[in-house]
Amino acid sequence: MITPNEELERDDEFWFEDGSVVLVASNVGFKVYKGLLTAHSPIFCDMFARSQPDDKEIYDGCPFVHVSDSSQSLKHFLRAMFHNVKPLFYRVEGDPKIPIEELLSVARLAHKYDVGELLRQAIACLQTYYTNKLAIWRARNQGGNVAFEMSYEFPAYAIGVVNLARLTETSSMLPLALYDCCSLGGRIVHGWARQDGTVEHLSVEDLERCIDGSLALAIRALSSPFNLFVGRKMVEKTESCLNTKSVLFGGAPGSCEGAQAKVKSQLNNGACVLGTRALHSHMTIPSLSQSFSKMCSSCLLILQSREDAMHEVLWGDLPSLLNLSIPDWPTPSK
Ligand SMILES: [Zn+2]
Repeated sequence: MITPNEELERDDEFWFEDGSVVLVASNVGFKVYKGLLTAHSPIFCDMFARSQPDDKEIYDGCPFVHVSDSSQSLKHFLRAMFHNVKPLFYRVEGDPKIPIEELLSVARLAHKYDVGELLRQAIACLQTYYTNKLAIWRARNQGGNVAFEMSYEFPAYAIGVVNLARLTETSSMLPLALYDCCSLGGRIVHGWARQDGTVEHLSVEDLERCIDGSLALAIRALSSPFNLFVGRKMVEKTESCLNTKSVLFGGAPGSCEGAQAKVKSQLNNGACVLGTRALHSHMTIPSLSQSFSKMCSSCLLILQSREDAMHEVLWGDLPSLLNLSIPDWPTPSK
């Protein structure tokens, strides 16, 4: 551990010449304002009250206090506290999304230092995606406003979201965060490597939930295409179809009937690649979306409402598929 007599690496962003305390995280010093920290955090208040610096613990004229956080996490937290660049949570259209790592650092440290309002805002930001409301989930699938940067391909940060939900007792975020973890497959055992070098792992209990839950979700995803069909067809020729004539009787080659047959043969040939992502739509799978796009709007609407109904049931079942009991989760509609 560095002492006040040694040369300290000064943080380039948080070194205010008139600062009143030097926080030291991983040998990087942050000269900031004691009064601003104590006004928001009872933990900092106690910490500064306990440390009665003698001459040896003074650096650059200020008390010198070690914290156990990484310098990167502390920097994210201080940015949110002092927002000297721009406010973290107030975003207007076109502003870049908040990096998820930054958001999780702010939430973890806001919890640790008991900065209630900052924690509330960070959680609200995470809940623009990790929600207990199906309508919000659906909106985000249609390009809805998620406040932070996310990855469809490899959402390893979901491990950090699960751990934060556990830490802050925000259980309503757990089902979707574990759902994302399930999509990581075997890579989940390697945990999530943060930029500060820390690797976060799930608890053994949550890892077990993901292993069992992955199987349960994959079974749902595999059986779901059958619910899109009624009998042998997806949509019977009805009055509402805008492409009623089959190709044999002079219908356009790109008719709904042809598109249905194509989707069906693709599904039979294993094009259903939802994996554990049972809540995602078949219509957005790239290999299928081209065939779906050839169907008329009326038939697509029928399929969409059938898939929506299926997702509603699955949404209600999500906690039990992941062996969770979530008090404020909507009950399955059966
Ligand atoms: Zn049609």
